[in-house]
Amino acid sequence: MSAVGTSENPLRVAIIGSGPSGFYTVSNLLKQSDLVVEMDMFDRLPTPYGLVRAGVAPDHQKDKSVTRAYEKSAANPGFRFFGNVEYGTHIHLEDLKQHYHQVMFTTGSPFDRNLGVTGEDLAGSHSATEFVAWYNGHPDFADRQFDLSQENVVVVGIGNVAMDVARILCKTVDELKVTDIADHALEALSQSKVKNVYILGRRGPAQAAFTPPEIKEMGEFAEADVNILPGEAVIDEHSQNQMDADNDKNVLKNVETIQSYAARPNAGKPRQLHIRFLVSPTELIEEAGAVSALKLVQNDLLMDDRGQLKPVATDREEVIPTGLVFRSVGYRGQPLPDVPFNESWGTIANEGGRAVDASGQQVVGLYTAGWIKRGPSGVIGTNKTCAQETVGLMMEDLQAGRLFEPADPGADSALELIRSRQPDFVSFADWKKIDEAEVAEGARQSRPRVKMTQVTDMLDVARS
Ligand code: NAP
Repeated sequence: MSAVGTSENPLRVAIIGSGPSGFYTVSNLLKQSDLVVEMDMFDRLPTPYGLVRAGVAPDHQKDKSVTRAYEKSAANPGFRFFGNVEYGTHIHLEDLKQHYHQVMFTTGSPFDRNLGVTGEDLAGSHSATEFVAWYNGHPDFADRQFDLSQENVVVVGIGNVAMDVARILCKTVDELKVTDIADHALEALSQSKVKNVYILGRRGPAQAAFTPPEIKEMGEFAEADVNILPGEAVIDEHSQNQMDADNDKNVLKNVETIQSYAARPNAGKPRQLHIRFLVSPTELIEEAGAVSALKLVQNDLLMDDRGQLKPVATDREEVIPTGLVFRSVGYRGQPLPDVPFNESWGTIANEGGRAVDASGQQVVGLYTAGWIKRGPSGVIGTNKTCAQETVGLMMEDLQAGRLFEPADPGADSALELIRSRQPDFVSFADWKKIDEAEVAEGARQSRPRVKMTQVTDMLDVARS
């Protein structure tokens, strides 16, 4: 038998998950000189691109243009897409071992992290994940309801996801209707009675997790003022020392913007965004089975023995009356059948992208990249270098012969198996039909696209 990776015996790779790290796996594999590779990518949704479609905010269309590069990768003859096919339901690791030499998991971090405070499971308290997926038209979340008749909304956490959520709540329908926000969300937001949006950061301005362009946008709403309490924009001595030592451009820009907002006069716009620092929720107060208010405590910042600045609760408490709370304190990965998982990190157990078992030994044939490898951090481009690192290890293992030995490595037999398990799979050509239909409807409404939010509608178009 010829060596694996040649035209007689191509390297066969299954990629589970079609978000950025899945597509950067493809582009990195295609860059390897003298490698003949066949890649089958699977996604449980009929649509590819993961969080670029279902996570990136609809008013950030520029960030979505990365899909053009993904389309180029998908045009390679060695690439196939199988949408609407779920790992663990339609295909299993034992199946993949029969048809592929290596399996890459790029399934992201679909779950939210808990706050750990009383009342966080009450009606009216939602994860930011749900809201983001809802306004982005993810089929699993299209039927969710959020009580936008509330005057006050609280977003807990101060990362870029919290910024996205607050921005969507602060923008007007005119600002949103030119985006590809889901129609159901646009309709619900057009009835919104929200007047005050509170973002709660547990540490100070120098520790905020958002990035400079995102905080800058918060000062540019047509119909919402941004408010920061001058006392909360002050930089404490420890933070100042860290800022001086690190000279991190993002932190310096964030602090400058925050302090400019604290000094800005209020223009009396109909909506008010309040960005708070040094406060933590301690309880979601219940009334008639739902959230009626959020109790918070003001924090001091103290240096721990590892040199980290930690929030420490004082005895100063406040209560914000609200029936709508979004928890935006980070994501967690989901364990996958037959794949080692690190519960404390919420990622696949791995070293540099090679899956490892409980004793730290490599699990031959299994790899990971993206958030399910390293946790939910970084921007889209971070996944490029993350996938590159893993693909480097896959190539080392190919050279060393550390691979699955598939009994039936033919692309046709893999196709036969997939068809037998999920006759309704969606190919890349099928997806292009869905894409074209969405974009065509968008053009009629002067929008980038109008998203389909039901799998049945997508399948109808794919089969047309
Ligand atoms: P994130 O950046 O990790 O921010 C999480 C926030 O939650 C932090 O402010 C954190 O504060 C806070 N937090 C954690 N536990 C908390 C608790 N128990 N109580 C109160 N606050 C708590 O996560 P994310 O916003 O979900 O974003 C995930 C990744 O996606 C990030 O890398 C982000 O930059 C990226 N993203 C980028 C964009 C963009 O480029 N426009 C858009 C969306 C998301 P501490 O710092 O004190 O822990």
